[in-house]
Amino acid sequence: RLYETVQEQATHDALTGLFSHRAFQARLHEELLRAGRSQTPVSFILGDVDHFKTYNDRYGHQAGDDCLRQIATTLKASLNRPGDLVARYGGEEFVCVLPDTGLAGATKVADQIGQHVFEQQIAHADSAVAPVVTVSLGVCSKNGDAHGSAEALVRGSDAQLYAAKRRGRHQTCGSALESA
Ligand code: GH3
Ligand code: MG
Ligand code: MG
Repeated sequence: RLYETVQEQATHDALTGLFSHRAFQARLHEELLRAGRSQTPVSFILGDVDHFKTYNDRYGHQAGDDCLRQIATTLKASLNRPGDLVARYGGEEFVCVLPDTGLAGATKVADQIGQHVFEQQIAHADSAVAPVVTVSLGVCSKNGDAHGSAEALVRGSDAQLYAAKRRGRHQTCGSALESA
């Protein structure tokens, strides 16, 4: 039982119960190897809660933690394929790894996540975007014929997340890595 507890703690995030950053890194590398062998696409979604600092400032850290748990539940419910993985990337940032999914499909999933979080209607009176909690999402995809490391996917989705923030938040931006 101790082994199981240690195992659980190593692979899962304590607050949300989602996979940990470390578990995500391992899976991303596995999926990239698999995708390379089978020449199939793989996509990566990076999500970040909008104006979460002011949420904590207004409602308190405990409410902030509850909010992150609720978003985690919404994320899990938004992914429907068995191979999909969702993890807590750190702080108020989440990541999804979508095997066998190209840019169009991943963008659809990201938009659904954004919509589902919005539909939760978690009050956020101090958000400059909406009166409720919203998320911004960056998508980066690697097609079957493209080269690209895990680092390139992470960097790509981070750049797209930054673009979504700059364009006003509560939206998805995406790109695909260059084909070889
Ligand atoms: P932006 O829309 O640009 O993302 O603004 P932001 O306020 O969300 O971004 P910023 O990086 O300034 O603030 C992130 C906040 O998230 C600050 C930090 O206190 C909060 N946060 C990070 N991890 C946790 C957590 O585990 N629990 C709680 N309650 N808050 C957290
Ligand atoms: Mg952040
Ligand atoms: Mg944020």
